[in-house]
Amino acid sequence: MADPVFDAVIAGGGLSGLSLAAHLGAGPWRDRSVLVIDDCTPARRPAASWGYWTAGIGLLDGVAYRSYARVRVQAAGADDVVALGRYRYQVVRRSDLERVVRSVIGCCPRFALRQGRVESVTNGADAAEVVVDGHTYRACWAFDSVSPESPGRSADARLAFVGWEVECAVPCFDAQTPVLFDFRIPQAGRSRFVYVLPKDRHRALVEVTEFAGRHAISSTADELGAALADHMDRFGRYEVLRTESAVLPLRVAPAARRSGRVLRIGARGGLLKASTGYGYQRIQRDSAAIAASLAQYGHPFGLLRSRRRYRLFDAILLEVLDREPAQLELAFGQLFLANPAERVLRFLDEDTRPLDEVRLAATLAPRPYLRAASTLLLAHASGR
Ligand SMILES: Cc1cc2nc3c(=O)[nH]c(=O)nc-3n(C[C@H](O)[C@H](O)[C@H](O)COP(=O)(O)OP(=O)(O)OC[C@H]3O[C@@H](n4cnc5c(N)ncnc54)[C@H](O)[C@@H]3O)c2cc1C
Repeated sequence: MADPVFDAVIAGGGLSGLSLAAHLGAGPWRDRSVLVIDDCTPARRPAASWGYWTAGIGLLDGVAYRSYARVRVQAAGADDVVALGRYRYQVVRRSDLERVVRSVIGCCPRFALRQGRVESVTNGADAAEVVVDGHTYRACWAFDSVSPESPGRSADARLAFVGWEVECAVPCFDAQTPVLFDFRIPQAGRSRFVYVLPKDRHRALVEVTEFAGRHAISSTADELGAALADHMDRFGRYEVLRTESAVLPLRVAPAARRSGRVLRIGARGGLLKASTGYGYQRIQRDSAAIAASLAQYGHPFGLLRSRRRYRLFDAILLEVLDREPAQLELAFGQLFLANPAERVLRFLDEDTRPLDEVRLAATLAPRPYLRAASTLLLAHASGR
């Protein structure tokens, strides 16, 4: 007897795979057959938790184990605690996401999570085909968060970071206030800042993060680790409990996500915001849009699209970063210190009205942005 054809197979049970499974299981697709496959290899799961901001309307917002009403911003000579208004900066741990999604899936009789190594995800003649440890699963739709990116796809910038979860001997952190960015570290010709996510007064995830433009070479993990060790010196004795590091390619142009019955999701679907590297909230919105599209149209392609003007803003910022890395500190500082945080976060979520964007732009020094915009315009006109 032929193997059953699943309604959907989700390749990769990380952030995007689990989020999509949860959104499918919480809606009209709850009685469909959905298989999620993950190889559970720790090395392929670099993020132990995700930070993001939200105004609290998403399906999985309740999963967060930390929620902060304010953040600290240390940039452009200023050091301010910024109230987030109706937004919260939240943190979701992978373990909590897995637990909650398992409980949603547990109520869906034909959903399953299986361990296995995905070898390929392709669009077959009349079904999507997902090969797992030599076995082919067929599905009406396949959602792919694991296949390698097409070779030769260059990045517009890269976000590299090294993070340590530390426990300090003396209380060092403000447990209520994450540091979104502290640019007061040596910049090494790029744009670097420290990010601090406190657990309590002694424990925090402390990261050195670096944006490198198209023409710059990202620092190595060892170099960023050395910068982090220098920064940590101020805290006296501490123990490193866990480390994480990554280099995320940032791209402005949308990824080619769709191939017949296969749709790329998550980072492989181009869902990291090019100017920030954040992906959590975009992945939630994408999951909700896919689930709604399947329910309404019977296909998953009624996706939310990044509006062109936001891609243009991202492209301009990354062009400025490439030419003048120091401008990033000024931009982040000016945006957060001269505007209500809600406006900035709405903008980063691509939810602003044009008037908000004019107000935000008015707080930036215009020259680098006009220069970058004219470079992009010329490149566009000459077909580069
Ligand atoms: C260290 C790190 C920290 C980050 N922190 C944040 C953050 O705080 N906030 C934010 O918004 N964004 C963050 N990001 C960016 C982005 O949100 C994450 O990368 C996010 O996890 C992307 O989701 P994903 O589903 O595409 O990938 P993943 O969450 O990595 O999921 C991919 C899954 O596929 C599995 N897998 C891979 N290959 C195979 C295979 N061949 N067979 C079977 N399974 C396979 C892996 O085990 C993994 O579970 C971070 C990224 C990294 C790398």
